[in-house]
Amino acid sequence: MPANRQVIVVHYHELWLKGGNRRFFLGKLIVALRKALEGIPVRRIGQPSDRILLEFGEGAQLDEALARLARVFGVANYALARRTDRDLEAICRAAWEEVCGEVFSSFAVRTKRSDKSFPMRANEVERRVGRYLLERLREAGRNVRVGLDAPELTCRIEITADDALIYARKILGAGGLPANTAGRVLCLLSGGFDSAVAAYKMMKRGAHVSFVHFYGAGARPGESSLHVARELVRHLTPYQFTSRLYLVPFEPIQREIVRRAPERYRVLLYRRMMLRIAERLARRDRALALVTGDSLAQVASQTLHNLVAVGAAVQLPLFRPLLGEDKQQILAVARQIGTYAISAEPFHDCCPLFLPRVPALHCSAGELDTAEALLDLEELVRRGVAATQLERYRWTAGRVVPVEAVRAIPASSSGSA
Ligand code: ATP
Ligand code: MG
Repeated sequence: MPANRQVIVVHYHELWLKGGNRRFFLGKLIVALRKALEGIPVRRIGQPSDRILLEFGEGAQLDEALARLARVFGVANYALARRTDRDLEAICRAAWEEVCGEVFSSFAVRTKRSDKSFPMRANEVERRVGRYLLERLREAGRNVRVGLDAPELTCRIEITADDALIYARKILGAGGLPANTAGRVLCLLSGGFDSAVAAYKMMKRGAHVSFVHFYGAGARPGESSLHVARELVRHLTPYQFTSRLYLVPFEPIQREIVRRAPERYRVLLYRRMMLRIAERLARRDRALALVTGDSLAQVASQTLHNLVAVGAAVQLPLFRPLLGEDKQQILAVARQIGTYAISAEPFHDCCPLFLPRVPALHCSAGELDTAEALLDLEELVRRGVAATQLERYRWTAGRVVPVEAVRAIPASSSGSA
């Protein structure tokens, strides 16, 4: 494959903290980079010292590559770099091309010599390139100065054994830890803003997230929450490359709760049934924990008492990564990752159906156990799991595709797995 003169320099940082596991995390990061860039001709992925260099073949769509890299966890920052010969004049010219279109009032040049055979010391390169840039910028009528302490723009030069890399426009990466390094969890995804953000936060720390969505019936066409849940899962899949979405029809269970339990406990009992079914699916999915988008005291069902009482329905660990976050913070993340617009679509949620007029605010687990006394919990869970459908999605060559047609969960796995 003929070489492209541009490379992308990828920096990571947190992986350094991982001591003996560094190789594992780095290996996973390389796998993630390869998958993210699938379909774009990558010629080589090099790892000189503490960074990763992506070299491309002729005709590679580098803008597309840069856009895809924004969703690779484990990347601290990255930049498209110009590659030149190891020659000061060529470096100066490339540095000029790199900075001349940028707006800034102070700048600095930083040089790294990963190959010490280069005849000039790093600070000498910095001084010479800096002077060259300053002169040309001034000639172009630009009012700029060199600012070594807090430059608005830093032009970076890396001299390797074969060539020199020059870049000035660092792009902030997604941060976190590489995808699929932590194990699997199952997230209860409502279609609202919070649970999608909760899933994202778990993914960002390396968890692989499966999703379960409970939907109501009776919505008019176009109002169902199903398309919102699907759209959210599709949107989040590029971060982890594959996703499973379990879809559970919930209205029959809600009707049963409405019929047989005191009104003020309804929402809490819906949540407990969701958790019980999710727990069963999680065991089938080999997920180690459940995740919800609860945030402390956000609504009546999320007072501390109610969260504890609801959570008592399951044995599997239940993580609530948004517990201590304000709604504004949650919405800011939703906007940043692009789930906001999807969750903002109108949809018919299963829970407003049969809402209590005065919900209970401070329940204990015992109180909810009593409220459930007339329900056949095991039978409801069994029916919920039996009616569940599974969809799979996969990120491939830059888009998310469904892996197979919707199919029901095999009857054999609907018992206590
Ligand atoms: P979100 O919290 O995602 O904005 P919401 O506000 O509609 O959605 P809440 O009433 O706050 O949901 O529910 C708390 C949590 O319970 C959700 O974050 C989600 O994890 C879970 N949950 C609620 N409804 C559903 C549902 N229909 N399917 C799956 N999970 C749900
Ligand atoms: Mg919420």
